Amino acid sequence: MAKDFLKGAADEYDVVVIGSGLAGMTSANILGRAGHRVLLLEQHYKLGGLATWFLRPGGHIFDVSLHGFPHGMIKSCRRYWNRDIADRIVQLKNIRFDNPQFSLTTSFNREDFTRLLTTDFGIAPETVKEFFDTARNMNFYDDQQVTTRQLFDRFFPGRDDVVRLLMEPITYANGSTLEDPAITYGIVFSNFMSKGVFIYEGGTEDLVARMKKELESNNVDIRIRCGVDKINVKDGSVNSVEVNGRTIRCRAVVSNANLKTTVLKMLGSEVLDKDYVERTDGVRLNNSSTQVYMALKEGEEIDESGGDLFFTSTAKEFRTDLLLSRDITSRTFSFYYPRTRPEKKKDRYAIVSSTNANWSDWADLNEQDYQTSKQDLVETTIEALEKYIPGVRDKIDRAEAATPRTFNHYTRHELGASFGTKFEGLGVSRELPQQVGGMYHAGSVGIIMSGWLGAINYGVIVSNEVDQLLVSTANQH
Ligand SMILES: Cc1cc2nc3c(=O)[nH]c(=O)nc-3n(C[C@H](O)[C@H](O)[C@H](O)COP(=O)(O)OP(=O)(O)OC[C@H]3O[C@@H](n4cnc5c(N)ncnc54)[C@H](O)[C@@H]3O)c2cc1C
Repeated sequence: MAKDFLKGAADEYDVVVIGSGLAGMTSANILGRAGHRVLLLEQHYKLGGLATWFLRPGGHIFDVSLHGFPHGMIKSCRRYWNRDIADRIVQLKNIRFDNPQFSLTTSFNREDFTRLLTTDFGIAPETVKEFFDTARNMNFYDDQQVTTRQLFDRFFPGRDDVVRLLMEPITYANGSTLEDPAITYGIVFSNFMSKGVFIYEGGTEDLVARMKKELESNNVDIRIRCGVDKINVKDGSVNSVEVNGRTIRCRAVVSNANLKTTVLKMLGSEVLDKDYVERTDGVRLNNSSTQVYMALKEGEEIDESGGDLFFTSTAKEFRTDLLLSRDITSRTFSFYYPRTRPEKKKDRYAIVSSTNANWSDWADLNEQDYQTSKQDLVETTIEALEKYIPGVRDKIDRAEAATPRTFNHYTRHELGASFGTKFEGLGVSRELPQQVGGMYHAGSVGIIMSGWLGAINYGVIVSNEVDQLLVSTANQH
């Protein structure tokens, strides 16, 4: 008989959280800590969503999305998780760029970028200062019609090289392009520029294990392999969820699953305003990614002068279509030295190459062509890496690729979206509780609310709203 992953689960909770990505887990943790009865349902066999890792023979561990996040993670983790987690966040000091327009190394903060822009790129110090101040003062209520391209044209007209330095890492971090609203750029760029790029020491598996422990200590009932099929609505409010053949009642639902799937499939248009359904339908998903994971043989090393994060490109100019093309010109290499996992007994080195990608380039390949294309991705990536680390091919023990189909398979994100939705998704996500009482969405949306920090912070915002609802409705009973 199939295992019952809901064995012992109650028939009713205060709140059901669908999905254990960083936003889902953070919401569940805060609500559990506040004393609500919380059920966290995850369809995969692991917690973490895109904040994940995998283990391969030979003891190789690969991180999928642990490449870098802003300093703000320390505060968010300390407040909404615990000090143990926050104290393991460390800075990456060696960020490199190499492309036909420039090669440089930076600590990736305002001070160092000011130095680079004024000395290497010859921009007037006043212009640089004004640009940074403008970006830092941007907020959600600014003019949303101004695009990132227009912002750059205002400060650095005709300077494609400057745009590349300022934009390439952000495109990599959240899939945003020059055509997206400038505020999405300004907010995310300023978050990084405040202090630089940070990473979690110990690896994703350590972070997620500590989060699981914290969730359990706050009495969150965690269930893996429990994919929610339907959210039931009664008299305009959420009433229950359908999962693994059971109906579990609840007063509120926080869905961390893809926004469009949540609204259009799990809830369904029958219970929503026509106009809202149309707007949800029109929300554009963000792009996907490909990755190549490479682990070195035991005893082999690479020099740390290679840097921590390395943005490489062979494209002569900076263009969104080139960044996404299957004909890859841009690769961002993340280097994992033994210090990434200092508590491991054996010294391990791994390199992960990431590239933004289109779902359509991978979706319809038959199995044979798919495997061939994956193998080509691995081979061409090793070739590209050889340029920077001669002889690395012979040091590699294992190399494999992930594609948009991989991300779709493990997280159910439509089109394998790596970074949720484009900007318009934020409004649709925020409006959900007005459509259905007790129904919330927390997860990567609107570019601003994506990435590790964005997802965690969105989980915080939404859990506060759910807490207010639960407390106020409890008082009415
Ligand atoms: C290749 C790659 C590299 C990245 N690199 C970085 C980086 O360096 N820095 C950074 O900050 N961010 C990075 N990101 C983005 C970051 O990982 C995500 O924005 C963030 O982890 C998303 O969190 P989330 O809360 O939105 O949920 P997700 O991680 O999207 O998780 C959603 C969860 O919901 C579950 N789910 C879906 N449907 C159901 C259902 N019906 N029932 C139950 N469960 C369900 C899924 O299985 C999943 O666990 C990267 C992403 C990718 C793909």
